[in-house]
Amino acid sequence: MATYDVCVIGSGLVGASTANALVRQGAGRVLLLDRGNAGSGDSALTFGMVRRHYTNPVLIQLSMAGTEILANWDDEVGVGSGGYVPTGYLLPVPERLVAACQANVERQQGYGLDTRLLRPNEIADVEPLLSTEGVAAAAYEPGGGVCDGRLMIDSWLLDGLGRGLELRQHAPVSAITFNGDRATGVQLANGEHIEAGQVVVATGGWSPEVLAGIWAVPFNLVRIQVAVLRLPPGHVAPAAVTSDAVSNVVVRAAAGRDIWVVAYQSDTPVIGVRDDCQRPLLDGYEAAIRGPLTERFPSLATAPLVGGWGGAYDATPDWHPLVGRVPGTEALWICAGWSGHGLKSTPAIGRVMASLLTAETPAIDVSDLAPDRFARGFENPLAYGPGARA
Ligand SMILES: Cc1cc2nc3c(=O)[nH]c(=O)nc-3n(C[C@H](O)[C@H](O)[C@H](O)COP(=O)(O)OP(=O)(O)OC[C@H]3O[C@@H](n4cnc5c(N)ncnc54)[C@H](O)[C@@H]3O)c2cc1C
Repeated sequence: MATYDVCVIGSGLVGASTANALVRQGAGRVLLLDRGNAGSGDSALTFGMVRRHYTNPVLIQLSMAGTEILANWDDEVGVGSGGYVPTGYLLPVPERLVAACQANVERQQGYGLDTRLLRPNEIADVEPLLSTEGVAAAAYEPGGGVCDGRLMIDSWLLDGLGRGLELRQHAPVSAITFNGDRATGVQLANGEHIEAGQVVVATGGWSPEVLAGIWAVPFNLVRIQVAVLRLPPGHVAPAAVTSDAVSNVVVRAAAGRDIWVVAYQSDTPVIGVRDDCQRPLLDGYEAAIRGPLTERFPSLATAPLVGGWGGAYDATPDWHPLVGRVPGTEALWICAGWSGHGLKSTPAIGRVMASLLTAETPAIDVSDLAPDRFARGFENPLAYGPGARA
């Protein structure tokens, strides 16, 4: 029977970052498991948006620290790339959300972030394609932009493997083993038993199945889709990444002449289990993006649809992740439920997780993300109401 100090289940952005940080922090023999190829979960489907605009200090700090690592990848990781491009990030808001947006901007400025509230007549300076019809103001972060989740995972794995990390792909975990309340390892679907001093559940939207019978993971799976439009030759692509809180369309430039478009839909179907979330776009999604795109980016609105994909947000009741010990257990940790906005925080959360597992004080206090918070009656407040803007 193989024995490890730590077994991390799930090699998406969270698991790869955590495993990398564990081997770098000298946590002993570390095993990273994935049921398929590393990075084949929702981390492969991300829109790639980087922003620090959040309601609460914990997510402001995690996203700021994560973006710092992305911006200094060569020094911080030294292998590969995070694919970070600071295109600028814009959050246009209607009149009813101006006060909330301004308060968020001031909170981030208090943490030293370069961000400001733009009036409609200032928006064209950073995004000339944006129609300001119905827009009362916009939060702007020059350092917001895009990064590449697949590159991040590959880089962490390559660096980690060079430092002794062991990775097993196509090794689905069927059970977590216990001695009393203390996790002692995992059982693989092929019957193999792996012993580990500590176990980390980093299985994103699959976490309810991995923790079945141990803890009822408090999140819903919410379908989200990304449409790919190809601009005709000569058409100008958007400059900034824009998440429009007026029309609820989200737009970025991608490779070549492609742009990626998301429409937040109020009638998004909730999914029972993660494997039921189909990857191709659902019928009707093209119609759902055309209206808001015409409203906010008229010059982009008729570009033909050339592709797209769907994934799932693992959305907790307060749209904040679950980070800490699995309630009622020892030596078993969870870092999941990122509710559709984990990407740019994962460089930082891996280090936080490694600190928690090695009994060090993490650089960022994540106690407001404790998995038992809902049972204690605590929910993180949301400036814009329930949703991934958090
Ligand atoms: C369409 C879409 C767009 C998004 N856009 C953004 C964005 O613009 N910005 C942003 O910040 N965030 C965004 N997100 C959110 C971000 O992608 C997620 O927060 C992040 O990828 C979550 O990573 P994860 O490691 O928790 O999950 P995953 O990447 O899903 O990783 C979980 C892993 O666990 C493995 N696994 C599952 N079950 C088992 C098992 N039994 N045994 C072993 N392994 C198992 C899976 O194979 C998978 O590799 C988006 C998400 C989606 C779906």
